[in-house]
Amino acid sequence: MRAGPFALQSSALPQNGGVSFRPGIFVRCARGLCPDCAAPLPGGLTGLLGAPARCPACGMGLRRGGGFFLGAIVWSYGLIAFGALPLIGAAFLTGLVGAQAASRLAVAAVLLLPVLLNGLSWRLWLGTYYGFLPEQLPSSGRRADD
Ligand SMILES: [Zn+2]
Repeated sequence: MRAGPFALQSSALPQNGGVSFRPGIFVRCARGLCPDCAAPLPGGLTGLLGAPARCPACGMGLRRGGGFFLGAIVWSYGLIAFGALPLIGAAFLTGLVGAQAASRLAVAAVLLLPVLLNGLSWRLWLGTYYGFLPEQLPSSGRRADD
């Protein structure tokens, strides 16, 4: 069988199905280090402020434009919806807390945890983004001020 002029050659396809993940970059970000140069980011990724605008060591822009922050919000939502709220539900179902206390805990978790988890959510988001797209790092050729 002859392949047509637009047939894909097997060597042109990624060997892993097109998706790869670099866990080292994810762990680096989760620890509060720059995804590119691994320098510690001063307070920004461990506190309430989320990510600083740039890495002080290499100048890499960490707060990119165009809705980049939405990834951190998704992480925050996931941690609360699939982490904190099920724990409160389990505490209620096992009788550790009553219905009123569980309701108050859930409301408090929904209102307070997004603020408290902001730094962690940014760390996890940067790790997810650059773990899947390491070619977006300045050391891979992207402009540091982008
Ligand atoms: Zn850096």
